Amino acid sequence: MAYLYDSENIFAKILRGEIPNATVLETDHTLAFRDITPQAPDHVLVIPKGPYVNFDHFAMNASDAEILDFNRTIGTLCKMLKVQPGEGGNGYRLIANSGEAAIQEVPHMHMHILAGRPLGRMLNPA
Ligand code: AMP
Repeated sequence: MAYLYDSENIFAKILRGEIPNATVLETDHTLAFRDITPQAPDHVLVIPKGPYVNFDHFAMNASDAEILDFNRTIGTLCKMLKVQPGEGGNGYRLIANSGEAAIQEVPHMHMHILAGRPLGRMLNPA
C-alpha cells in the first residue's frame, strides 16, 4: 500500500505558516519547534519540510540532502539544548511514532526530542 500524504495535517499547516509555532531551529530542509503539550522540560519536534508521512516513508524516499540535514539538525539541537551525554548533559530520548501501533497522531514525519528530566524506561507495559 503506497503512502498518501494528507496536506491538511497540522504540521503541513505549520510549514505553510497557517498555524503559529515556537520555532527552535530552521534549516533548508528541516523545522524544529516546541511541542504544544510538552512531556518533559525539553520537548522539541523535528520535521522535514518535505511531504513524508512517517519515518520509513522519509528514510526510503527523501533525498540524501534532506536526510543529512534532518540528522545534523537533531545533533545541533542536542547541542543547543545542552543534553549531550558526552558533553556533560544528562541525555535525551528520540521517538518517531509511526502508524497505528505507535499511536502516531500527526501524519507528517516527526522526531520527538525529549530531555530535561529522568525519562524512565523505554516502554510502558501495553
Ligand atoms: P505523535 O503522537 O507522535 O504523532 O505526536 C504528535 C505531537 O504533536 C504531540 O506530542 C502533540 O502534542 C504535538 N502537536 C500537535 N499539534 C501541535 C502544534 N500545533 N504545535 C506543536 N505541537 C503540536
